[in-house]
Amino acid sequence: MNFSDSEVVASILKKEGYELTDNSKEANLVLLNTCSIRDKAEQTVRNKLKNFNSLKKQNNKLKVGLLGCMAERLKEKLIEEEQVVDLVVGPDSYKDLPNLLNEVEHNQKAVNVILSKSETYGDISPVRIHNNGINAFVSITRGCDNMCTFCVVPFTRGRERSRSPESIIREIYELSEKGYREVTLLGQNVDSYLWYGGGPKKDFIKASNEQKKNSKRFSNLLDLIASNFPQIRIRFSTSNPQDMTIDVLETMAKYNNICNYIHLPIQSGSDRILKKMNRLHTRQEYLELIKKTREIIPNCGISHDIMTGFPSETEKDHQDTLTLMEEVKYDFGYMFAYSERPGTYAARNFRDDIKKEIKQRRLEEIINLQQKHSKERNQRFLNLTCPVLIDKSSKKSDGFWSGRTSENNVVVFPKENYSPGDIVQVTIEDFTSATLIGKAKKKSLAI
Ligand code: SAH
Repeated sequence: MNFSDSEVVASILKKEGYELTDNSKEANLVLLNTCSIRDKAEQTVRNKLKNFNSLKKQNNKLKVGLLGCMAERLKEKLIEEEQVVDLVVGPDSYKDLPNLLNEVEHNQKAVNVILSKSETYGDISPVRIHNNGINAFVSITRGCDNMCTFCVVPFTRGRERSRSPESIIREIYELSEKGYREVTLLGQNVDSYLWYGGGPKKDFIKASNEQKKNSKRFSNLLDLIASNFPQIRIRFSTSNPQDMTIDVLETMAKYNNICNYIHLPIQSGSDRILKKMNRLHTRQEYLELIKKTREIIPNCGISHDIMTGFPSETEKDHQDTLTLMEEVKYDFGYMFAYSERPGTYAARNFRDDIKKEIKQRRLEEIINLQQKHSKERNQRFLNLTCPVLIDKSSKKSDGFWSGRTSENNVVVFPKENYSPGDIVQVTIEDFTSATLIGKAKKKSLAI
């Protein structure tokens, strides 16, 4: 999401005459787009800021700005705590950057952290930064209305709102004209997408009958994109089990160009913990959704987010998470130790009472189990031939391309005469827990 937001910011600044540089010594303006989801993300930014003190000594024109969630969460306090920072701009205020930079030019510090109920940056064509010209992110919703008790996002990104289908289609059209082959639709909770003419999702009930009749949900949006761009692969993230509907799965099954992959965070396998997290579904409901997914899209790649050590998590709760993983057998996962975020319901009401060592040990157990499952799941590709979109050179070996299957597995294979952006039929000959290894046969008509 931050990657995508940075592209919006680059576009706004380009109009003001700014150019991008790879060399921080050459820059007159450095903007750090920040994340607050865990404390570690914030500490990383604070460490990075230390480098800019010496850069400022070398270039007295240099200004430093903090964007994104950390800006929104800490506001003016960031300017007091981090002397090197000149500018603090929250996720909904990027259009104000030209004015704020003007203030900064006059040696004032500038802050804008006002959250909006309607801003989607739908009218801005993002400047693609450090992009391979093959995959791009396209934002479809901003903010989040789910008040998960651990999560800082509703406080830093505000109310949920959706971007107009027209502006999404226009952006994808521009990408397709430039030769892009894959888009990932982004939102905190893509299944909750709802376009009824603009404004916060929670005001939908106040919409006119006409607006309600013409409204578009996520499955409608997917249908529209998939049918308009048959040569582009479509992915999306993140799906939320409480909002994901069967019509989304059916739309995925209907179109070849919608990838067979769903990222479906669970956070915990324990009903008690799910309730305490205010995740509005049970373990059983989640498992039923997985079952339905596999019925409708038999080969579907499925990944998760899981968190260990949420307040009061017992060994029994942790075991519930491990058994859920055994039941689902995910292809991949993103796993974290709980990090208390100031201001959230959990921080205000529950004690962060699981010792660091215990959180860490549980985390290692789920990571090890996931690795085992990833390897087991990868086995199903052995000797199969599947379409792979080449996106870059393999990091490990320059003679190999790296690409992805529709199910989101990384595949490496000898380069031969193929090029990035090609979709090729690759026969899988070997695998590890993280990678499929194969040999390309020919360019693929299927995508
Ligand atoms: N909107 C998505 C999650 C976005 S954040 C959803 O609701 O599923 C990505 C992941 O970060 C979350 O799924 C969660 O596993 C993790 N996360 C969020 N808050 C956290 C916290 N306070 N401590 C540790 N991990 C956290």
